[in-house]
Amino acid sequence: MNSILPQNEPVLSYGPDSGERAGILAALKQHAGVVTEIPLLIGGQRFSGIRTQSLHAPHDHRRQLATVSQAGPAEVGQAIAAATAAQHEWAAMPFEARAAIFLRAADMLAGPWRQKLNAATMLGQSKTVFQAEIDSACELIDFLRFNVSFARDMLQQQPLSGPGMRNALDYRPLEGFVYAVTPFNFTAIAGNLPCAPALLGNTVVWKPAFTASLSNYLFMELLEAAGLPPGVINFVPGSAASVSETVLDSSDFAGLHFTGSTEVFDSLWQQVSRRLPNYRSYPRLVGETGGKDFILAHPSADPDAVAVALLRGAFEYQGQKCSTASRAYVPASLWPRIKCRLLDDLTTLRMGDVENLGNFIGAVIDRKAFERIAGYINNARSAGESILAGGICDDSHGYFVTPTVIEVEDPQAVTMREEIFGPVLSVMVYPDRAWSEILATVDGTSPYALTGAVFANDRLALEEASQRLRFSAGNFYFNDKPTGAVVGQQPFGGGRRSGTNDKAGSVLNLQRWTSPRTVKETWVPAKNYRYPHMS
Ligand code: NAD
Repeated sequence: MNSILPQNEPVLSYGPDSGERAGILAALKQHAGVVTEIPLLIGGQRFSGIRTQSLHAPHDHRRQLATVSQAGPAEVGQAIAAATAAQHEWAAMPFEARAAIFLRAADMLAGPWRQKLNAATMLGQSKTVFQAEIDSACELIDFLRFNVSFARDMLQQQPLSGPGMRNALDYRPLEGFVYAVTPFNFTAIAGNLPCAPALLGNTVVWKPAFTASLSNYLFMELLEAAGLPPGVINFVPGSAASVSETVLDSSDFAGLHFTGSTEVFDSLWQQVSRRLPNYRSYPRLVGETGGKDFILAHPSADPDAVAVALLRGAFEYQGQKCSTASRAYVPASLWPRIKCRLLDDLTTLRMGDVENLGNFIGAVIDRKAFERIAGYINNARSAGESILAGGICDDSHGYFVTPTVIEVEDPQAVTMREEIFGPVLSVMVYPDRAWSEILATVDGTSPYALTGAVFANDRLALEEASQRLRFSAGNFYFNDKPTGAVVGQQPFGGGRRSGTNDKAGSVLNLQRWTSPRTVKETWVPAKNYRYPHMS
């Protein structure tokens, strides 16, 4: 029997005169002039002032938001010890008692904590209010509530019991702790990666991304306020390579829950492989990684719908979503109309400080990202590619890159193949008659397979694209942009070099955090070893 699914958290509008608008402005005001101290949180204890680093707002890099303590090998060792010590009691707690903590956290986030977490996400990660609302409020609340519901269903999956016996599956947690390594770009993902394994009775060492530590620490405080016992999730910001080295050296390491770049996941997987014989169990490795997501328009597509999908899909959150549309294939017959609409709309799009709610986009996350994105744009310019819009990079106040559209002739151009992770969209115009060839190009151009969208009014074209691009994307869209997956509606994850495709926010992901034990009980045990055929 399926449990009743929760409703997705409604997205608030922040329109003029709305209560939520007043709420977010008040929450933002509370940060004015404040430098938050972010400690390590290990076994319920705070460790402050350890090798601190300053965190600044991406859209105003002179503004310091926080000082963040950085765990070294000794503190990481303490976090592992705390996770290991908390394991027995946490795993023994009834599922519904553990679930109550996460359901309570969801309600607190939907209520009094909503604008606190949205404000921290806006300031620390340079999200507009809408982008923060769909992330640190709605998606995170949905992860917390839906995972409880999916886990209840999973626990009810039990084997048959024939006459004279009882069979059962005991959904044990993994034997050891889970290591959660989280990305900067979604507060919801950062929160979900430690919470999903914890819900199933695992204890966790959580290494957040430095640039997201303001919102991530606040979420940690919310979990504590909701009653999470000490040691269940241990928060250890710090040098990524060094924290990982210590964690992966532990024989109690039992699983990795990762979201981030393909390169880092590769390196973690290789480090685990090298140490494999040292571990008590085969570790579960779950990683959702990079993307080079596409929009493909068929000659029968609605050009205005394509133009709007390109703008929203490529430029919301400055193109820093793993699902961002960063390569587009448009038929020659539709390109004049799509180009005109896209470039016109881009002239009206406002970029700037996210505290000004009229802005559509903010800054990219940090100097490293700024320089990487500027490098791609400059190389495209030097290669003689046609930059139709944007292309201006200005770091005088914050890390701002104007939404950039590049028209390429070579389908194998670098910007059509590599993940840029910034507001850069490359478009290739193809002859209308080359539809079949372009499907092969879309499939074969990039090593990733995360998201993709096809626009067409012709149903046969949609079906053909769906078949020919079956392995090109783990999340596939008809006539919609390839971003904005909703928990419970479009379980998220991709194949090929985009990750292990364990679909965050679904039962498939939760199954990775349990190691079931089968139990058979016989009511009347045999007392004679002989079988009838032996008579
Ligand atoms: P990143 O790989 O730079 O960092 C991710 C995490 O790994 C961070 O916590 C970081 O500190 C840590 N890390 C970095 N170097 C490390 C090392 N050598 N050893 C161990 N840990 C290390 O990624 P990011 O910049 O935070 O996020 C952007 C990337 O994440 C993009 O590639 C994007 O596509 C991907 N992403 C994928 C999904 C998905 O669901 N597929 C979702 C969000 C982001």
